[in-house]
Amino acid sequence: MRIAIVGAGVAGLAAAYELELARQQGAAIDYDVYESSARVGGVLSSRMEDGTVLEHGPDSFLTEKPAAVALCRELGLEDQLLGSDDAQRRTFILVGRKLVPLPDGLMFLVPTRLLPTITTPLFDPLTKLRMGLEWFQRARPGGQDESVASLVRRHYGQVAVDRLADPLLSGIYGGDAEQLSAQSVLPAMVRLERDYGSLTRGMLAARRKQQAAARQSAGKPRHTLFTTLRGGLQQLVNALEARLDPQRLHLGARADLLSLDASGWRLRFQDHPTERMDAVILATPAWAAARLLREVHGPMSQELAGIPYSSSITVNLLFDEQQIPPLPPGFGFLVPAVEGRAMLACTFVHRKFPGRTAAGRAVLRCFAGGMRGESMMEESDDAIVQRMRADLQEILGITHAPLLAEVRRWPRSMAQYSVGHAERIERIRRYTAALPRLHLAGNAYDGIGISDCIRLGRGAAEALLQAGVRSE
Ligand SMILES: Cc1cc2nc3c(=O)[nH]c(=O)nc-3n(C[C@H](O)[C@H](O)[C@H](O)COP(=O)(O)OP(=O)(O)OC[C@H]3O[C@@H](n4cnc5c(N)ncnc54)[C@H](O)[C@@H]3O)c2cc1C
Repeated sequence: MRIAIVGAGVAGLAAAYELELARQQGAAIDYDVYESSARVGGVLSSRMEDGTVLEHGPDSFLTEKPAAVALCRELGLEDQLLGSDDAQRRTFILVGRKLVPLPDGLMFLVPTRLLPTITTPLFDPLTKLRMGLEWFQRARPGGQDESVASLVRRHYGQVAVDRLADPLLSGIYGGDAEQLSAQSVLPAMVRLERDYGSLTRGMLAARRKQQAAARQSAGKPRHTLFTTLRGGLQQLVNALEARLDPQRLHLGARADLLSLDASGWRLRFQDHPTERMDAVILATPAWAAARLLREVHGPMSQELAGIPYSSSITVNLLFDEQQIPPLPPGFGFLVPAVEGRAMLACTFVHRKFPGRTAAGRAVLRCFAGGMRGESMMEESDDAIVQRMRADLQEILGITHAPLLAEVRRWPRSMAQYSVGHAERIERIRRYTAALPRLHLAGNAYDGIGISDCIRLGRGAAEALLQAGVRSE
């Protein structure tokens, strides 16, 4: 069976790794990976600068989703795994020019402790009252999908949307709470509402269950929230690449069109001869998969093209720690859209993962772009750095120039799970199942994080291998 993997981001690389393992164990398969850019890894990219890791894309994976840590272990990177310093885990929200800590007891978007909620300057008195009264909200049958903003507004009011939902979600998805789907982005909250009515009551009940489970597993090591690699996430990309046969990796190969006939798939490229394949894994962004499938399946192509994407900009600023004022105690801060700034968020990298920054240095990693800053993608690096520095001066009082500033743009890289996403994915699944040996993987479908993409990439390869075995 000849298999093409199109796209060598982490999803495509994970699929290729799974196929390579099977090939080495004797599976009768042949695979090739086609990547349009000059390097593999997609948005995963980092480099070392004088003992300091500079992450250009993601900086870590959520520890509770196991696929990424498991893959790192398989690849021999176990001793490189590094947990976040959760003792310092505190996130601030910008209000005016002040950084206000998220109140204690806030479980994602749900306030669960009375005193910190009453005393925080993050919310006005009316919102606080509303947060208290939310306790009495009644259970509600599961209904139609709605936006995250609408769900949060119904429970806690508009200020909670502006000061919590919007900045937290634009931090994770580069997205807009008014557009993102509650069902796809906050499925646990939708379930809590269905079962308890009040999110606060539901969350407290869930926490009691978690605590009981934790007591049972007492003695087992506690996990940190985030895990990364000591030398940067490029280590994962390098380790995956090293496991693949270089002859099968085709860089600068932009796939242009897929077609299907009785003998199988044909994959046409811009600057590469057309290839015949028995099976295809499309691990590109959905908008690129839509283009590739335009002649094979119009309705599926349209559904894929309908998945919105946002662009992302990261700006790594390396400082001499002596030259900047003391930073507030935490991992960094988020900037609500209502503040009208260019910056979406800023991570204090040396705090989140100590040991990845050289002694005496501080790295502030700023995020811009997202659904609200698409036009910034066109600005020069200098202009973007100036904007970030202006914001940092006002917010943190940093006037010194950084020792180094590095800007990376990731155009149309973050899929947005907008209202109705789950139904759209169901339709896409039905269309895919009707086509022979075609699989989709990547951040557009069932999870945006690195672990999700690894799970989907490996899952696509496994599904093909199983189907291949059955048909032999
Ligand atoms: C700035 C940023 C920060 C993030 N932070 C985190 C984080 O901290 N933790 C976390 O878990 N997740 C994070 N994410 C999300 C996560 O990194 C991504 O969702 C995930 O890496 C996407 O992997 P992918 O393989 O699906 O897509 P991509 O990495 O986008 O790879 C797709 C590949 O397909 C190629 N391609 C496209 N079209 C074609 C074509 N026609 N022919 C051939 N090749 C093609 C592209 O060149 C690219 O290499 C972040 C994302 C960004 C952008």
